[in-house]
Amino acid sequence: MPRTYGEIPGFPIGSTFENRTTLASTPVHRPRMDGICGGKDGTESIVVSGGYVDDEDYGQEIIYTGHGGNDPATKRQIADQQLVKGNAGLARSQLDGNPVRVIRGAGGDPTFSPTTGFRYDGLFRVVDHWHKIGKDGYRVWQFRLVTLESADPPPDPVPEGEGPVGRTEATIQRQIRNTAVANHVKDLHSYKCQICETCLVTPAGPYAEGAHIRGLGRPHNGPDIAGNVLCLCPNHHVLFDAGAIFVDAMRIVRSTGTQDPLGPLRTVPKHVVDDGQLAYHRDYHA
Ligand SMILES: [Zn+2]
Repeated sequence: MPRTYGEIPGFPIGSTFENRTTLASTPVHRPRMDGICGGKDGTESIVVSGGYVDDEDYGQEIIYTGHGGNDPATKRQIADQQLVKGNAGLARSQLDGNPVRVIRGAGGDPTFSPTTGFRYDGLFRVVDHWHKIGKDGYRVWQFRLVTLESADPPPDPVPEGEGPVGRTEATIQRQIRNTAVANHVKDLHSYKCQICETCLVTPAGPYAEGAHIRGLGRPHNGPDIAGNVLCLCPNHHVLFDAGAIFVDAMRIVRSTGTQDPLGPLRTVPKHVVDDGQLAYHRDYHA
């Protein structure tokens, strides 16, 4: 089943569910037992309900313990956790910038949890992960998640006429879409930089960045389409955004100062880079 990241239509923040069975009958969180809906390709949703002694809930920020090694009867750890399945998926979601649906259950921190049943509490982003020896003496993987509502404002402007009420939601939807387009381009290139072929390998999988050729925000207002995105390593992303390098009309990557060629812009058949956007970038930087 393909992953569904982001909001599920018909289930706004605050939607409640009587129990795990009713929750699992919706796409909000599909597994009936597991607290993580995910695999090594990414994690779409988690349930925070006090199942792990090392969890910490601060409302807009959650320290979430991964799954595995836990005795469901006592909620204590009885074995080490591994960076596999949904745990690997949360790390993958951090690399890809994909949002995670958070559902809180009545067993969680009383300050932030519903008194009965389960409640959808919105989208969070995974911003950090690590492993440590938990309170019960076994290795646990942990993830820091922060709500998208409290995230830094994105660079792209809110269209005219959009009132303050819809602002946050519209901004979040746009962020999710930006992320989806960038991740599609990264997939097409197997996370290899289109300039230097570098692919950064991490325990959670390969990492690359989606670089918009013509910026999304003011004053450029570039389109959020695959043809306006390059798959780059972090170094070349910074150099490209800063105008230290550009792509010439023959698609040779050049250093802006010396005009020295770095090599051709590598492409793959399924990713059609828009030459008009490359020309726009040149106008601003070359
Ligand atoms: Zn590179």
